[in-house]
Amino acid sequence: MQQDCIFCKIAANDIPVNVIYEDEYLIAFPDINPVAPIHLLVIPKKHIANILEATPEDTTLLGRLMATIPKIAAIAGLTEDGFRTVINTKDNGGQTVHHLHFHILGGRFMTWPPG
Ligand code: AMP
Ligand code: ZN
Repeated sequence: MQQDCIFCKIAANDIPVNVIYEDEYLIAFPDINPVAPIHLLVIPKKHIANILEATPEDTTLLGRLMATIPKIAAIAGLTEDGFRTVINTKDNGGQTVHHLHFHILGGRFMTWPPG
Protein backbone atom coordinates (compact mmCIF):
# COMPACT_ATOMS: atom_id res chain seq x y z
CA MET A 1 0.00 0.00 0.00
CA GLN A 2 1.48 3.28 -1.08
CA GLN A 3 0.18 6.37 0.70
CA ASP A 4 -1.76 8.75 -1.54
CA CYS A 5 -2.09 6.20 -4.33
CA ILE A 6 -5.77 6.25 -5.31
CA PHE A 7 -5.73 2.70 -6.68
CA CYS A 8 -4.06 1.35 -3.52
CA LYS A 9 -6.96 2.94 -1.62
CA ILE A 10 -9.46 1.27 -3.93
CA ALA A 11 -7.64 -2.07 -3.51
CA ALA A 12 -7.81 -1.64 0.27
CA ASN A 13 -11.54 -0.75 0.13
CA ASP A 14 -10.78 2.70 1.54
CA ILE A 15 -12.47 4.19 -1.52
CA PRO A 16 -15.65 2.31 -2.41
CA VAL A 17 -16.12 1.21 -6.02
CA ASN A 18 -18.62 -0.94 -7.88
CA VAL A 19 -16.65 -4.18 -7.79
CA ILE A 20 -17.04 -6.14 -11.02
CA TYR A 21 -14.59 -8.87 -9.99
CA GLU A 22 -12.26 -9.33 -7.03
CA ASP A 23 -9.95 -12.02 -5.74
CA GLU A 24 -6.92 -12.19 -3.50
CA TYR A 25 -4.65 -10.56 -6.07
CA LEU A 26 -6.68 -8.14 -8.16
CA ILE A 27 -9.81 -6.07 -8.44
CA ALA A 28 -11.83 -4.84 -11.43
CA PHE A 29 -14.13 -1.81 -11.32
CA PRO A 30 -15.63 0.76 -13.72
CA ASP A 31 -13.51 3.70 -14.86
CA ILE A 32 -14.86 6.91 -13.33
CA ASN A 33 -14.50 8.69 -16.70
CA PRO A 34 -15.56 6.07 -19.26
CA VAL A 35 -14.48 6.48 -22.88
CA ALA A 36 -16.56 3.55 -24.10
CA PRO A 37 -19.99 2.15 -23.15
CA ILE A 38 -18.14 -0.38 -21.00
CA HIS A 39 -14.83 0.80 -19.53
CA LEU A 40 -13.33 -1.22 -16.71
CA LEU A 41 -10.01 -1.04 -14.92
CA VAL A 42 -8.21 -4.12 -13.63
CA ILE A 43 -5.53 -3.51 -11.01
CA PRO A 44 -3.23 -5.69 -8.94
CA LYS A 45 -3.78 -5.16 -5.22
CA LYS A 46 0.00 -4.86 -4.92
CA HIS A 47 1.33 -1.41 -5.78
CA ILE A 48 3.38 -1.54 -8.98
CA ALA A 49 3.78 1.94 -10.48
CA ASN A 50 3.77 0.77 -14.09
CA ILE A 51 4.73 -2.23 -16.21
CA LEU A 52 8.36 -1.03 -16.29
CA GLU A 53 8.50 -1.36 -12.52
CA ALA A 54 7.34 -4.99 -12.47
CA THR A 55 10.08 -7.37 -11.32
CA PRO A 56 10.62 -11.07 -12.01
CA GLU A 57 8.86 -11.68 -8.68
CA ASP A 58 5.73 -10.17 -10.24
CA THR A 59 5.63 -12.60 -13.16
CA THR A 60 2.99 -14.84 -11.60
CA LEU A 61 0.90 -11.82 -10.63
CA LEU A 62 1.10 -10.43 -14.18
CA GLY A 63 0.01 -13.81 -15.48
CA ARG A 64 -2.94 -13.84 -13.09
CA LEU A 65 -4.00 -10.38 -14.27
CA MET A 66 -3.86 -11.40 -17.92
CA ALA A 67 -5.49 -14.76 -17.29
CA THR A 68 -8.39 -13.14 -15.44
CA ILE A 69 -9.27 -10.72 -18.21
CA PRO A 70 -11.47 -13.28 -20.04
CA LYS A 71 -13.41 -13.90 -16.82
CA ILE A 72 -13.95 -10.18 -16.30
CA ALA A 73 -14.87 -9.70 -19.96
CA ALA A 74 -17.43 -12.49 -19.63
CA ILE A 75 -18.96 -10.89 -16.53
CA ALA A 76 -19.20 -7.60 -18.47
CA GLY A 77 -20.80 -9.33 -21.47
CA LEU A 78 -17.93 -8.52 -23.83
CA THR A 79 -16.88 -11.92 -25.11
CA GLU A 80 -19.36 -12.09 -28.01
CA ASP A 81 -18.40 -8.84 -29.74
CA GLY A 82 -14.91 -8.42 -28.31
CA PHE A 83 -13.12 -5.63 -26.55
CA ARG A 84 -9.80 -3.83 -26.28
CA THR A 85 -7.25 -4.15 -23.47
CA VAL A 86 -4.85 -1.24 -22.92
CA ILE A 87 -1.91 -0.59 -20.60
CA ASN A 88 -0.73 3.03 -20.61
CA THR A 89 2.85 3.56 -19.44
CA LYS A 90 4.35 6.88 -18.30
CA ASP A 91 3.87 10.20 -20.07
CA ASN A 92 3.89 9.21 -23.73
CA GLY A 93 1.60 6.30 -22.94
CA GLY A 94 -0.88 8.69 -21.34
CA GLN A 95 -0.58 7.21 -17.87
CA THR A 96 -2.21 9.44 -15.25
CA VAL A 97 -2.56 7.06 -12.30
CA HIS A 98 0.77 5.57 -11.33
CA HIS A 99 -0.44 2.18 -10.18
CA LEU A 100 -0.41 -0.49 -12.89
CA HIS A 101 -3.83 -1.01 -14.47
CA PHE A 102 -5.34 -2.64 -17.52
CA HIS A 103 -8.17 -0.83 -19.27
CA ILE A 104 -10.90 -3.05 -20.72
CA LEU A 105 -12.89 -1.13 -23.33
CA GLY A 106 -15.97 -2.46 -25.03
CA GLY A 107 -19.51 -1.92 -26.16
CA ARG A 108 -18.52 -0.16 -29.38
CA PHE A 109 -16.09 -0.59 -32.28
CA MET A 110 -12.59 0.61 -31.41
CA THR A 111 -10.72 2.45 -34.14
CA TRP A 112 -7.05 1.84 -34.88
CA PRO A 113 -4.57 3.46 -34.55
CA PRO A 114 -5.46 4.94 -31.16
CA GLY A 115 -5.08 8.69 -30.71
P1 AMP B 1 -4.45 6.07 -17.23
O1 AMP B 1 -4.67 7.38 -17.95
O2 AMP B 1 -4.14 4.91 -18.10
O3 AMP B 1 -3.46 6.23 -16.09
O4 AMP B 1 -5.84 5.70 -16.60
C1 AMP B 1 -6.26 6.10 -15.34
C2 AMP B 1 -7.75 5.95 -15.35
O5 AMP B 1 -8.19 5.94 -14.02
C3 AMP B 1 -8.49 7.08 -16.06
O6 AMP B 1 -9.22 6.54 -17.16
C4 AMP B 1 -9.39 7.66 -14.98
O7 AMP B 1 -10.65 8.02 -15.48
C5 AMP B 1 -9.47 6.52 -13.99
N1 AMP B 1 -9.72 6.89 -12.60
C6 AMP B 1 -9.08 7.83 -11.88
N2 AMP B 1 -9.57 7.85 -10.63
C7 AMP B 1 -10.53 6.90 -10.56
C8 AMP B 1 -11.41 6.42 -9.55
N3 AMP B 1 -11.41 6.96 -8.31
N4 AMP B 1 -12.28 5.43 -9.84
C9 AMP B 1 -12.28 4.90 -11.08
N5 AMP B 1 -11.49 5.28 -12.07
C10 AMP B 1 -10.63 6.27 -11.83
ZN1 ZN C 1 -0.91 1.98 -5.65
